Amino acid sequence: MKYKSLTGTRDVLPEEQPYWRYIEKKIIKVTSLFGFVRVDPPIFEETALFARGVGEGTDIVEKEMYTFQDKGKKSITLRPEFTAGFMRLYLQNGLYVRTKPVKLYSVGPIFRYERPQAGRFRQHTQFNVEALGEQDPSVDVEVLSLAHQLYTEIGFKDITFQLNSTGCPQCRPAYIQKLRHYYTKHSEIICPDCQRRLDKNTLRLLDCKVENCQPVKAGAPVIRDHLCLECQDHFSALLHYLDLLDKPYSINHTLVRGLDYYTKTVFEVWAQGIGSQSAMCGGGRYDGLIEQLGGPPTPGIGFGSGIERIIISMQEQDISPEQDAPPRAFLIHAGKEAKNKAIQTAFELRQNGFPALFSFTDRSIKAQLREANKFGAHFAVIIGDQELEQNAAAVKNLKDGTQSLIAFSDLLQFFQNIE
Ligand SMILES: [Zn+2]
Ligand SMILES: [Zn+2]
Repeated sequence: MKYKSLTGTRDVLPEEQPYWRYIEKKIIKVTSLFGFVRVDPPIFEETALFARGVGEGTDIVEKEMYTFQDKGKKSITLRPEFTAGFMRLYLQNGLYVRTKPVKLYSVGPIFRYERPQAGRFRQHTQFNVEALGEQDPSVDVEVLSLAHQLYTEIGFKDITFQLNSTGCPQCRPAYIQKLRHYYTKHSEIICPDCQRRLDKNTLRLLDCKVENCQPVKAGAPVIRDHLCLECQDHFSALLHYLDLLDKPYSINHTLVRGLDYYTKTVFEVWAQGIGSQSAMCGGGRYDGLIEQLGGPPTPGIGFGSGIERIIISMQEQDISPEQDAPPRAFLIHAGKEAKNKAIQTAFELRQNGFPALFSFTDRSIKAQLREANKFGAHFAVIIGDQELEQNAAAVKNLKDGTQSLIAFSDLLQFFQNIE
């Protein structure tokens, strides 16, 4: 075979599917508990939406987007994140007339041309949540708690929030100037990335992981000391609500997130990882974004959570996706008439909600039993001449080896009675 999947993409094989179904189930449960409804924006949009929405100068827009010209000579981009598309959907479909906040979620692939590394994919699947149209800090806690409950339901332990405020257009510019001024004094020691961030993406200086930059970062001015009154109040109210709900958090002054549009609250949700805490998801408030896209002033807050990342963490933590599948039957037959009966019985069981397979070939009973075990069947339903004569099947419990003769007319009942 000369074709291979592309770098940064992956196939999800049958063995991994239970994780996906498990997480989807939890997402459906938790979003409905919190009153979030699903929307599905298209996977591609016009490039300008993302350039404008995500922000020129961000790594995503500059280096990571899958942008191409379609046959109509229009510049198209595969969505590199959900939020901008959600905003477009919200405005275009007039969702703003609904009771606010409008609480939406989606699950689907996003595309970024990133350097491949463990747990990072160029196509990855994201669970995305947005609450639009209300700026009260109780909405922030709603979104944060949804994340908390989702990870708890999945089975993660020691979930905590990392919180920061990135201010607003009133207070942030002055802080950024201070930060730039401070970093300029240290410009010889900071890494080349930071030197670039100095002018273009100043807040992200706080995001640098390079060792040389750490002492500089540690002495940097702290944004919380520079927030305007409104931003201060918002942040304090959020902390108050988290205390009220007894949800643990730490304030992280260097948490800024990669996107330009965040205002006020930014956060990450951390869960227990191997040896240390690790970030499960991140997001924040973006009160200016919709206006930037040509809509009326509309506050919003949301987060995105990579499903692949959740699965890797589940595997690290030995959290197995529960499998409450009904008992599975495997029909085994010896002889032509028995095969007819086996096929009929398999279809009848399936129609009544029981997974059932049968052997397509006419191999020995022993070989078919091996097949049944491979399939992970709970019961082998064996039909031969002797059984046909008695209008019954020999039902063998493959888990404990017991066997009993069950009349064909009682078979369905037999499966219905099993816990
Ligand atoms: Zn402010
Ligand atoms: Zn640096």
